[in-house]
Amino acid sequence: MPETTGADPTPKQSHLDAIGAQVLTCTKCALHRTRTLGVPGVGPATARLMAIGEAPGEREDKEGRPFVGAAGRLLTELLEGVGLSRQDIFITNVIKSRPPGNRDPLPEEVLACSDYLDAQIAVIQPEVILLLGRHALQRLLPNAPGISRCHGQLIRADERTYMPCYHPAAALYQASLLPALRADFEKLRMHLGTQGERPAAPGVAGAFEGAKREAEQLGLF
Ligand code: SF4
Repeated sequence: MPETTGADPTPKQSHLDAIGAQVLTCTKCALHRTRTLGVPGVGPATARLMAIGEAPGEREDKEGRPFVGAAGRLLTELLEGVGLSRQDIFITNVIKSRPPGNRDPLPEEVLACSDYLDAQIAVIQPEVILLLGRHALQRLLPNAPGISRCHGQLIRADERTYMPCYHPAAALYQASLLPALRADFEKLRMHLGTQGERPAAPGVAGAFEGAKREAEQLGLF
């Protein structure tokens, strides 16, 4: 069953859980044949912020949870640095099953999976949708410029507010992206009015180094 908050489910939470249950048994695209577990997403239906990445990776596929491992750790540190608890936001991906070998999702897979993501957004109605990387950007803002040009901007479209930013895994590959990622999360803090401690550079840098070491040890990158 999809992970829930453990509280008595509200109608909204029940709806979100039902979407997650559909993902677990979904056979709408060929990825269901090679996945271990579907990864619907995790977080409360009341989340003010929704973070959307690309697709489950190897660990996510085994655990059925999004953003575990190195990139997930970096995401958690960035969120906490701007006063957001990971438990308070809803985290998911554009597609809910792992592409073999972590290849890019195919257009037909993104299309087949689109109803789940659209339904999750419609139920949660978050104040901000954080688009982590180019696949999430292309899926939800197909007419936006590339991620390197629009990251950190609050973009209104279809009566929703989006903020594109680099995928944490990209910052693990390319450390030069980390300052931009941190700056974008600061803009998020200002928009949401969260009060977390300003991330001291050594703290986040330490988290980054730790996540990078873990990634290397796991052979993820
Ligand atoms: S990627 Fe989406 S559409 Fe394809 S099998 Fe998984 S849940 Fe279904």
